[in-house]
Amino acid sequence: MKHAGLWQLVIFGAVLRAVTPLAEEPSAPPPPPSPPAAAPEKATATAMKKVVKSDAEWRQLLTPEQYHVTRRKGTERAFTGAYWNHKEPGVYRCVCCGLELFASDHKYDSGCGWPSYWRPLKPEHIGTEPDYSFFMVRTEVHCARCGAHLGHVFDDGPQPTGLRYCINSAALKFEPRPPAAPPPAAQLPASPPAPPDPEATR
Ligand code: FE
Repeated sequence: MKHAGLWQLVIFGAVLRAVTPLAEEPSAPPPPPSPPAAAPEKATATAMKKVVKSDAEWRQLLTPEQYHVTRRKGTERAFTGAYWNHKEPGVYRCVCCGLELFASDHKYDSGCGWPSYWRPLKPEHIGTEPDYSFFMVRTEVHCARCGAHLGHVFDDGPQPTGLRYCINSAALKFEPRPPAAPPPAAQLPASPPAPPDPEATR
């Protein structure tokens, strides 16, 4: 009788196991979190043809201040650069290789004394790397094509990015935006009809 009860228990357990397989199966593991979006600058910077020059060549091409900032990771003094308070519409190119880096559309007055942008013109034109100099932890920004040091990016910028690209004027060369083209002739106000020629009615 004791064995019969044990067998009933075993059979009952087997039946229960057979009819409820899913309930006892461990649930499928959740999909792994999607990795953070790769830094776009790194994704495409590798495809960009680099501009490589010797130190002597850079010295020849640049002014001493441009060379110090871009090739020696220098920093111009705040409120002294050409563009910290510059408001013309246009594009800011790399002073070393001419790559388009920032646009006036994304420039704003951060009050820091350096040109500030809340995003680069094209993310792939900018490279970043950690900078531990001067007992600080910062993110250095450089030109993806020639490696010129531009400045740093901070996370205290305005929305929608919340970023502040704090850039040395000496690393940039401004190119004004050409004036907008006039509207097509069809959109111009129609000129009044010419008065009838009195000679034609005689
Ligand atoms: Fe460059």
